[in-house]
Order: sequence, then structure tokens, then C-alpha cells
Amino acid sequence: MSLVQDFQRHRGILFIVSGPSGVGKDTVLDNALQHLEGIAKSVSATTRHARDNERDGVDYYFYTRERFETEIAESAFLEYEEYGSQLYGTPLAPVERQLANGTDVVLKIEVKGALNVKRRYPETRLIFIQPPAFSVLEDRLRMRGKDTSEQIQRRLEIAKSELSERREYHYLITNDDLDTAINTLCAIIVAERNRIHPI
Ligand code: 5GP
Repeated sequence: MSLVQDFQRHRGILFIVSGPSGVGKDTVLDNALQHLEGIAKSVSATTRHARDNERDGVDYYFYTRERFETEIAESAFLEYEEYGSQLYGTPLAPVERQLANGTDVVLKIEVKGALNVKRRYPETRLIFIQPPAFSVLEDRLRMRGKDTSEQIQRRLEIAKSELSERREYHYLITNDDLDTAINTLCAIIVAERNRIHPI
């Protein structure tokens, strides 16, 4: 008699990873995903311009504001938010398709969007990545050299308000040592996969 099918899950789990700009969430998430099978990262759409190393359809779908607004009107987003005067949104159809196929999906999105998804889909698991100290963010954003000092100030202001919301998340990871942060994220995902979910 197989004991496996009693608890077999058919739908994937939706994970959200958030954290202030400059905390290193891309590095932590991308490394963690290399260690895991059966999980896909959602590609968001944005109205902001691509940075030098970014590719359309891989890092983001780069939309005009007009196209973005058309897709909002067509209910094509799972969620969307304005961040630093640009729009960012999660295309609904690919996420829904992957979850229905049993693939886990991870959204790397800011806090307001994350909390909207949590309200709409309470079974979503939310993971927040924080820096060991606020000053670390400022140093990282300046070293990264991708933003003007005005944009950096704006990102730091948003970071403060994002950090104040981290209690709404289910898990908190401090990105002090990179390997520890990567291992912790993997451990959380594996633990969630083995949780007894209500069916
Ligand atoms: P960046 O411009 O640094 O790529 O992203 C700025 C912020 O927007 C980050 O916190 C990032 O996680 C968030 N973000 C990226 N895609 C989405 C999305 O689809 N929805 C929401 N709500 N936030 C997003």
C-alpha cells in the first residue's frame, strides 16, 4: 500500500520573495533556485528602462506605459504596483499555468504587491530578505552604480517603509553571509513542500 498519494499535492506552491533594493535578493534567489527542481521564477513586466545587462523576456518584459495600462484593463496581471514612479506587475497567465501543472512559482516583488497577493491567495508563502544593518543597503546601492543619487535616496526611503512591514511575512532571512542566506531560502522552500497542506 502506497502512503504517498494520500498527501500528494497537485497544485504548485506560490512563494514571494521581497526585500529592500540592494539587499541582494536576486543573488540569494537565483542561487537557491539552482539547487532546486520544480520551481520557476515569474518574469514581471515593468515600464522602467532596461539596465545594461538586462534582457527583455528574461529579467523583465519591458512595456510602454500604454501597453501596461492596456494589460491592467484586460485583467492580465495577478498584481501590479507603482514603485519609484514606474509600474511593475506579475503576468497572471504563466503563473496560473505553472501552478496548475504542479510547478512551484516564486515572485520577486515589492511589499505592497506581496501583501495584495497574500490577501487574495492566503496560502501564498511570503519570505522577506533583510540586510544585517540599514547602512549596508546604502553602501550596496552606491557601489552597484546603477542609479542616480536621487534614485538611490528614493530607493532608501522605500526600503525603510518596506522593512517596517516585514512582520506580515512568514519567514525572515538576514543576508549577512550569502551562503547561509541561500541555504536558508532552500530550507524554507523544502520545508513548505513537505508541510501537510489542507486539501
Ligand atoms: P528593480 O527596478 O530594482 O528591478 O525593482 C524594483 C522593485 O520592484 C523591487 O523591489 C522588485 O522586487 C519589485 N518588483 C519587480 N517586479 C515586480 C512585480 O511584478 N510586482 C511588484 N509589485 N513588484 C515588483
